[in-house]
Amino acid sequence: MLHSVVQTVELAANTAGATRVEAVGLRVGTQTGAIPEALEAAWPLAIAGTFLDGARLDLEFLQAAVWCPTCNAEQDIDEFYALTCPVCGTPSGNLVRGREFEVTYADMDVQ
Ligand SMILES: [Zn+2]
Repeated sequence: MLHSVVQTVELAANTAGATRVEAVGLRVGTQTGAIPEALEAAWPLAIAGTFLDGARLDLEFLQAAVWCPTCNAEQDIDEFYALTCPVCGTPSGNLVRGREFEVTYADMDVQ
């Protein structure tokens, strides 16, 4: 998954004429199954030898949530549970967040 992040940022840096990338913001939802520690550990390997070499990874993890029609509210769900409201138990396939895996920003030096 990080490979596509590196490609995305490399393309953006190339387009902007950047000389180096300082940091990359990545927003990840818990429903993606991604583990923060694993992403942190994989990052140096993913960027080694690329234009991003040495860039910092700023991870933002989003707790997944469903819209519950019974509670009439958003309810955070545990990543290992099925898509049901944790408060009242109503099944809800209406995931309002949690599947994100997106670059939110890239801090880069531009000459
Ligand atoms: Zn509910």
